[in-house]
Amino acid sequence: MPVPDPQIEVVISAEKLSARIRELGREIARDYTGKDLVLIGVLKGSFVFLADLCRAIDLPLSVEFLGVASYGDETQSSGAVQITSDLTRPLEGKHALLVEDIVDTGLTIEYLRESFASRHPASLKLASLLHKPSRTKRPTTIDYLGFTIPDEFVIGYGLDYAQKFRNLPYVGRIVSKSASAGGF
Ligand code: 5GP
Repeated sequence: MPVPDPQIEVVISAEKLSARIRELGREIARDYTGKDLVLIGVLKGSFVFLADLCRAIDLPLSVEFLGVASYGDETQSSGAVQITSDLTRPLEGKHALLVEDIVDTGLTIEYLRESFASRHPASLKLASLLHKPSRTKRPTTIDYLGFTIPDEFVIGYGLDYAQKFRNLPYVGRIVSKSASAGGF
């Protein structure tokens, strides 16, 4: 489907994102003081959130990325999760914090939790910028949550539609008629 020329409405402004991420950073820094913390960004959607979150955590931490394919160019989850690029270092003995853009059905994150348990981290927690609780298929604990949102497809601040719009500095929704016709 070609990318429409949409009108975009702001759902969460850049200012609100930044204020909330500063709070999360302080909370995480307090909880992980003295611990060997590794942030694991789940690609691609988390890269913007992770970049801001890691700078809000005043600790000597490390950063890893995990490539995961669950959506393709569609707006519906297939439920199938595939690790497309793995961590570069072992997790054993480290305090791992998975960093997600959004928990929707919970299928991706629950799959990752299960597959990471066998890597024996000292602890494994989750930070997610967004949560759509009404869409839950597998309940999951979000230890550090930015915002709860209703069941609607959002873009921006790392989140894409057909691989575009990740660079918007806010979280938004597409409101154009052409996009609605495309199945939103
Ligand atoms: P889940 O496995 O929890 O259903 O889906 C997680 C992934 O689906 C997210 O990391 C994200 O890539 C994608 N996703 C879920 N909801 C949205 C949304 O509203 N907008 C975008 N752009 N991606 C979403």
